[in-house]
Amino acid sequence: MDVSMARILVLTALAFAISGWAAEEKPMLFSPVSEEPEWRLLDSGQGRFTRQEFENRLGKIFDPTGAMQPYLLFDDGGVTLFRDKARTRPLYRLTFVPEGGAGEVNPPLLGGGDPARPLAGKVICLDPGHIGGDWADIEERTFRIGNDAPVVEGELNLRTSRRLAQTLEASGAKVVWTHDGFEPTTTLRPADLYPEAISYLLQGSLGARLPKYSANRLIRWNAELLFYRSAEIQARARRVNEELRPDLTLCIHYNAAPWPGGRVRLTSANGLVVFAHGSYTAEELAFDDQKFHLLRKLLENSTPVELGVGQAIGEQFQKQWGFRPENYEGSGYSHASGAGPYVWYRNLIANRMFDGPVVFVEGPYMNDRNIYPWIQAGEYEGVRVFAGKSRGNLFREYANQVAAGVIDYFRRQAESSATFTNYSP
Ligand SMILES: [Zn+2]
Repeated sequence: MDVSMARILVLTALAFAISGWAAEEKPMLFSPVSEEPEWRLLDSGQGRFTRQEFENRLGKIFDPTGAMQPYLLFDDGGVTLFRDKARTRPLYRLTFVPEGGAGEVNPPLLGGGDPARPLAGKVICLDPGHIGGDWADIEERTFRIGNDAPVVEGELNLRTSRRLAQTLEASGAKVVWTHDGFEPTTTLRPADLYPEAISYLLQGSLGARLPKYSANRLIRWNAELLFYRSAEIQARARRVNEELRPDLTLCIHYNAAPWPGGRVRLTSANGLVVFAHGSYTAEELAFDDQKFHLLRKLLENSTPVELGVGQAIGEQFQKQWGFRPENYEGSGYSHASGAGPYVWYRNLIANRMFDGPVVFVEGPYMNDRNIYPWIQAGEYEGVRVFAGKSRGNLFREYANQVAAGVIDYFRRQAESSATFTNYSP
């Protein structure tokens, strides 16, 4: 941080203090544009689960390192969540099914339909990652090499999602979108978010590494980040949660490897990964809204669907492309799900904020030396040879594999519920 930046932060802190801004009274939010937790939304989980089921989900999926434990106090009938590790400021209390009682453990599987038309009656939401268009530069999701056409991730995601929609609809799904075009879903713009950007910097930017910019540029950079990441994804979440209410959401992305030596040039990085929601870090769990979403997602129990769909997509990746699965072992922010080698738990804004099962797919690396020419070839018909292999166009292949995984998952669900009509525990 340079001297002028420090001066601005001190002045801003003083301004907040003088205006009577009382940090103690406010919920501690991860991002200054987060919405305050609505704790009553957790009430539907009251008295439904055993302590064992709660602890099992917590440890396996959401809190593999035990970072949530200091905020929890278990008693005979339930658990109380606190804001602080000293456990003096309670946020919410959840009651369990009494000892010896039978809680709900059956996962809310999506199925029961016609195996021949497994997506009939299902609503699938597509969330093509990022915005693209005029916003691609500030999103930092675009690059250009020499005189080649620029690679813009938002556009690749949208192209792939449109292909995917056709296949899913042909199999009977109703497809809905968080956005379909190059316009933001949020009505906010970076210029609206300067006060929040300053407050984000005052929070210490949550330990994020900041670029070495001048004070003004750093504030603008933060305002842009809050716009395209926090505000935009929260607006999409409102659409998903309040209007669309899908059975499943698919977030579609392409990956990008760090530039070798900081220079824009191709690298060898090809790999694939699918994320299910989980794996909160200790830094995240210091905030009230992160604790709230962890509990919300734990009670919602979308994990079995996320793992089932994710694994089915991973099987297609393995069979069709065979690109290596990513490995986040030891990353501190992601852990293996056990649902095949491609599916990892990770806490991302989209899979945290959207209600219901969210499968977050990170496709091929845009700046990998074998993938890049394939992207540049565009949406050609038939096949062409890349890195010694005959390939259909990348968008079609990526979309087809995701679609085949989703269809496989629903078909298996429909078949198993048709076979076992009588449930016995
Ligand atoms: Zn992306």
